[in-house]
Amino acid sequence: MKTLTLSADWSPRPDFRLGKKDVDRKRTYLGSNVWRNPRLDVCSKPDPTPGEEEVVIRVRACGICGSDVHMAQADEAGYTLYPGLTAFPVILGHEFSGEVVEAGRRALNKRTGEVFAPGEAVTAEEMLWCGTCRPCADGYPNHCERLEELGFTVDGALAQYVKVPARQVWSLEGLRDRFGSDELYLVGSLTEPFSVSYNALFVRGGGLLPGDNAVVFGGGPIGLAAVFLLKRAGAAQVILSEPAPVRANLGRRLGADHVLNPLEQDVAEAILELTGGEGAKLYLEAAGAPDKTLPQMMKCIWEGKALNSVVVLVGRADRPIPLDGEVFQVRRASLVGSQGHSGHGIFPSVLKVMAASSGLTQLITQRISIDQAPDYLCALRTDKEQCKVTVTDF
Ligand SMILES: [Zn+2]
Ligand SMILES: [Zn+2]
Repeated sequence: MKTLTLSADWSPRPDFRLGKKDVDRKRTYLGSNVWRNPRLDVCSKPDPTPGEEEVVIRVRACGICGSDVHMAQADEAGYTLYPGLTAFPVILGHEFSGEVVEAGRRALNKRTGEVFAPGEAVTAEEMLWCGTCRPCADGYPNHCERLEELGFTVDGALAQYVKVPARQVWSLEGLRDRFGSDELYLVGSLTEPFSVSYNALFVRGGGLLPGDNAVVFGGGPIGLAAVFLLKRAGAAQVILSEPAPVRANLGRRLGADHVLNPLEQDVAEAILELTGGEGAKLYLEAAGAPDKTLPQMMKCIWEGKALNSVVVLVGRADRPIPLDGEVFQVRRASLVGSQGHSGHGIFPSVLKVMAASSGLTQLITQRISIDQAPDYLCALRTDKEQCKVTVTDF
């Protein structure tokens, strides 16, 4: 089968020491300290065959994620920019949908309670949590100690076929009534980023009540999904801070009441003015620039009338944040981190929201073939005029 595979050289930085979960020359939890000279290749690999509890899925749509772009991008010394769990070479791709072609004899479909039948439209979690470690047993699969990640440590879905454990596979059949086959798979491929957003806003951030205000910093796919979900959850005003015009327009179409340009205006001042001096209940950091956005949020919390505001960090950035503890103490505010998309009923809830929604495929601004994917992965380093680029031709 045809695949998009990323390779790199194991070449740890001089000060890097293997952690207890790293595997020499194979896997690391700190990719940007180890992997050098990342290379993309459209190449042929054997078709996967399912184990007893696995399904093989023919991929129909697979979005390109910011992490894919960062994995394939090197810094000046040649190290990959992606700082997380990685094992190369690997087939990229984790935001996908497709149809089941083969299932192991114990690969159960949660929709039917039976073994997956060929033809079932599905999507899957990217985090392949083990289910038996302490965090998993305690109900925190997003923090699994034996985590594998689809498209990061095990072969992903930028390929004609992908193999996934049935426990992480979710049926898309509930969306068939609303969407035709083509749109069903496009919408299905957005389930993963929407679930990341859902986890951040409602599981980690505690959600909001009708009438509360919310502010989203960063109009990439996670931030735009947040705009959509917040409006559906009853937010009085959803304010998006995003400088790129295409993303700002998408934000308006998905439900943002106001879009602010952080390059042209004082975002905190504007938020206070738009909310009548109140500020917001929820602030989402989805820009991956908390050093720039947190000061804006803290100004709103400090000067605004709203107590009990929650700041949620979902964008990854391994640099220090200037934090004023007084703001959180005096204003009863909290700051929480959010990782992942698994557990807590998140995937099935997102699928139900999608089954009752329209207009979501606007997020997909470009459809491409797998042969074009390497060029787009390079272009997306700087091109903020795209939102989600999705491979639909394998
Ligand atoms: Zn992703
Ligand atoms: Zn686990």
